[in-house]
Amino acid sequence: MTCTDCARLRTYCAGVARAKRAAYRDDAYWGRPVPGYGDPAARIFILGLAPAAHGANRTGRVFTGDGRGGSGDFLMGALHRAGLANIATSQTADDGLQLHGVFVGAAARCAPPANKPTPDEVAACRRHLAAEIAALPDLRVMVALGKIAWDAWLAFVGGHTPLPRPRPAFGHRAVAQLAAPGARGPERLTLVGCFHPSRQNTHTGRVTPAMYDALFAQASELADASARQGTGTGEQGTARRQSAAMRLP
Ligand code: SF4
Repeated sequence: MTCTDCARLRTYCAGVARAKRAAYRDDAYWGRPVPGYGDPAARIFILGLAPAAHGANRTGRVFTGDGRGGSGDFLMGALHRAGLANIATSQTADDGLQLHGVFVGAAARCAPPANKPTPDEVAACRRHLAAEIAALPDLRVMVALGKIAWDAWLAFVGGHTPLPRPRPAFGHRAVAQLAAPGARGPERLTLVGCFHPSRQNTHTGRVTPAMYDALFAQASELADASARQGTGTGEQGTARRQSAAMRLP
């Protein structure tokens, strides 16, 4: 995909792709906006913050190439244990990874300096998030990785419908229903908070595999419960399932 709405991010991503990290000097960096990745019949959307400069900005796939034991491996390990991914690592874009019932995207599609997109950059990227959500009619649960992703989703939904007051507070395994049953827009998704799988969190024990296992069990149960209630737009979407994985433009 091509998008140049955020000049600061485009300049940074292109610069990183030219300079490269020594360990990856033989790699052809992606260096462009990174689209979401996953199952076109996904029931669970996992929303990250933004690509890593030498991870997804290098490989071109979200949460991919963060180094052994990095956030991609941690996340994919949890999805694999939950039966939502066919492999437990995420190092290269040609590794054969298939996600089952899950789609992974980011609040901002371009790697930001210091891993921090500005609020304006996240807001600018909402139109791409909207396109991904619209193309996934079976979605029932939104898992926000970190508070910025949580806030980004609330801001996105707030553009469609009034949000509950007080605003739902972020926390690991915090759950928020943003609309009454029967809602048809993105507000229909059950929002679940999840601490980010950054090395800073996983290597300090703030985030553990057990915490992720509990969270994805919870997310799957919430998706099941939503399906039993018949909320969402998804019944027709399953018939449109095309392949085990898709990347949106
Ligand atoms: S962050 Fe999103 S809106 Fe901004 S340049 Fe990248 S793709 Fe475009």
